[in-house]
Amino acid sequence: MPTPDQYWLALQQRVCAKCVDGDGAGNCRLAQNVECALKTHFPLILGVVQSTSSDSIDPYAERLRNSVCGICINQSADNACRLRDDVDCALDRYYPLIVEVIEEVQRAEVNR
Ligand code: SF4
Ligand code: SF4
Repeated sequence: MPTPDQYWLALQQRVCAKCVDGDGAGNCRLAQNVECALKTHFPLILGVVQSTSSDSIDPYAERLRNSVCGICINQSADNACRLRDDVDCALDRYYPLIVEVIEEVQRAEVNR
């Protein structure tokens, strides 16, 4: 079973490297006082993806949005999120890639 660090390293290499808030090499350029939902909620995200199985991204996106956005400080009581509306949340922007990376790490370990 891969460790959480192995998953996070793969996410940095594949998601952060492509993120508009990164430096293109996997390093985050967000200001220290700005939180990235992918980083803040990483353990929860990992658990949700690992406990979901579908050929479609929709069930993953729905479960991630229900669980992560449900506890995120950026979502208001009426389920609105300004960051989501402004395409400013890395988790929301990269759902398909995040799921793909986590499942690839999982598969690589199973096939070893
Ligand atoms: S905002 Fe999040 S996804 Fe983007 S580079 Fe920073 S940590 Fe990675
Ligand atoms: S879309 Fe908004 S509420 Fe959901 S994780 Fe991102 S910042 Fe938080």
